[in-house]
Amino acid sequence: MSTAQEPAIGIDLGTTYSVVSRLDDNGQPITMVNAEGDRVTPSVVLFDGQDVVVGKEALKAMATEADSVAECSKRDMGHRVFHKVFGGKQYPPEVIEAWILNKLRADTAQQIGPFTKVVITVPAYFDEVRRKATQDAGYMAGFEVLDIINEPTAAAVAFGFQQGYLNAEGSSDEPKRILVYDLGGGTFDVTVMEIRGSEFVALATDGDVRLGGYDFDQRLVDLVAESFIREHYVDPREDPSAAGKLWRECEDVKRTLSARNKASAACDYRGFASRVEITKKQFEEATQDLLDRTRFTTSQTLKAAGLDWADLDRVLLVGGSTRMPMVHAMLRELSGKDPDASVAADEAVAHGAALHAGLQLAKQQGLKGTFAIKNVNSHSLGVVGTDPQTKRRRNGILIPRNTSLPVTGKRVFKTSKANQKSILVQIVEGESPSADDCTQIGKCTVRDMPPNLAAQSPVAVLFHYEPNGRLKVRVTVPGTDRQVDSEIVRENSLSKEHLDGWRRYVCQAEPTDYR
Ligand code: AMP
Repeated sequence: MSTAQEPAIGIDLGTTYSVVSRLDDNGQPITMVNAEGDRVTPSVVLFDGQDVVVGKEALKAMATEADSVAECSKRDMGHRVFHKVFGGKQYPPEVIEAWILNKLRADTAQQIGPFTKVVITVPAYFDEVRRKATQDAGYMAGFEVLDIINEPTAAAVAFGFQQGYLNAEGSSDEPKRILVYDLGGGTFDVTVMEIRGSEFVALATDGDVRLGGYDFDQRLVDLVAESFIREHYVDPREDPSAAGKLWRECEDVKRTLSARNKASAACDYRGFASRVEITKKQFEEATQDLLDRTRFTTSQTLKAAGLDWADLDRVLLVGGSTRMPMVHAMLRELSGKDPDASVAADEAVAHGAALHAGLQLAKQQGLKGTFAIKNVNSHSLGVVGTDPQTKRRRNGILIPRNTSLPVTGKRVFKTSKANQKSILVQIVEGESPSADDCTQIGKCTVRDMPPNLAAQSPVAVLFHYEPNGRLKVRVTVPGTDRQVDSEIVRENSLSKEHLDGWRRYVCQAEPTDYR
C-alpha cells in the first residue's frame, strides 16, 4: 500500500517507550531501529544547557541529573505546562512530546530518507484535548499527521494482519470478538472489538490515563526505600537523582520478577549502600490494588459492550506491562481463557499504526483500502448549562460514551434577547453531572449571527466527532442558510502562531529559543 515516494510510517508514542514502524515493499509492517540500534526508544528528554537529548542517554541521566530530565510527559498531555521546570522554563507537554517525535523522525530519516506523513497512536481513553495535543506534537516535530489511531485498535489491526484477516481470502465471515487489554508504561486501555471480515469495530472502551508500568515501578521504589530507611534512617527518595537511579534499578527488578521469583535492588545514598531483596510475592502484594483497578475496568467494559466472557473469542495482551505473570493469571481467572500474547507486546501498536498509515496514503491516492476501522468515543460529550435551582454548572450530555463514530449531536439554543450577536457554548467531556468535574474542552463563541433575530430564536449547534475522536462544531440558524464552522477556543492549547514557532525551534530551523 505504500508508495516509493511516501513511506507508510506509524509511531507508537508511548509514555515510557516509543516505537516506529514502517510498511516494507510487500506491505509488511517492520520495526525501525533508532540511531543507537534499538527497536524501542525511551520517551525521555534531557535538557542539557542548550542541548535537548532524547532517548537512552536522557534515561541514563535520570540517575545523575534528574532535575533536568522530563519523563512520562504523555501523562501531562492536556495540561498547560509540564510539571517540572527546566532552566527556569516550563514547557507545554506537547512540546516535550514533539522533541521525542523529532528524534524518531531524524533517526528513521537517516535510514529511509526524509518523510513527513505519519500516523501517531493515542490511548483509546485519551479525551479530545489530549488527542489534539498529540496531533499538535506531531506538527511541531515537522510531521503532517495523517491521522491518530487508538492503541488497542492498532494492536487489533496488527493482530488481524498477522492472522491474515486483511487479505480478501483470509478474512473470516464469522465475526470474531476480542478484548484488547493494553497495559503500557503509563496508561491502561481496554477495548472490546469485533472483527467483521476486514472491518475492525470497537464496541466499548475504557481505561485510565494514569495507570501503567510506571506505577508498579513506584511501588517497588517504595518497598526498597522503606527497607533502606529501616537500615540507615535516610530516605533515598528525597533526592531526585538518587530517586531516579533507584527507579531505574526497580524497573529492572520488575522485569526480572516477570521471569524469576526474586530479585535484588542496589541502593546507595549519602554514603550508605544496601542490596534489598524483593520476592515476586512481595511485589504482587504491593501492587494488588493496581491490578484490581484494571480487573474492575475490564469487567465494566465487557458489560458496556453487552457481552459475557463466553462471547469472546480471544483476550489479546498488548503493552510491555502485560509481561507480568500476575496479569496473565488475573485474566485467565476472569475469562476462563488463556490470554493471547501472540502479538509483539511492544511493537504491535506501532505495526497497526503503520498499516493504518498505508491505508490513509492509499486513500489519498484514490485507492481502496484493505480494511476499515470504526471507533467509539471514550468519554461522553456535553454542553454546560446552569441548574436553575442550584445555579451550579451542569453537564448536559449530548453524545453518550461508547457511541459509534462518526456521530453528530445537536442542541438547539434560544437567543435570550432580540438582535443577539453571539452565543457562547462551553463544551466538556466526562460522565459527571457536574461540569466542573469534567474535562473542559473549550469555549465556542458563535459570532456573525444573522441580524435582527427576534429574542427566543432557535440556533442549532452541531457537535461532530470525527472517526478518530476529534471534535468539530458547526452552527446553523434554522430558517436561514447561515452555517458556520465554529472555532473552539481551548484553554490549554497552543495557538497556531505558537505551534509554528515551536515547530521551527524543535526542528532546529530556528536556533534561538522560541517562547
Ligand atoms: P510499552 O509502553 O507498551 O512499551 O510498555 C512499557 C512498560 O512495560 C514499562 O513500564 C516497562 O517497565 C514494562 N515492561 C517491559 N517488559 C517488561 C517485563 N518483562 N516485565 C514487566 N514489565 C515490563
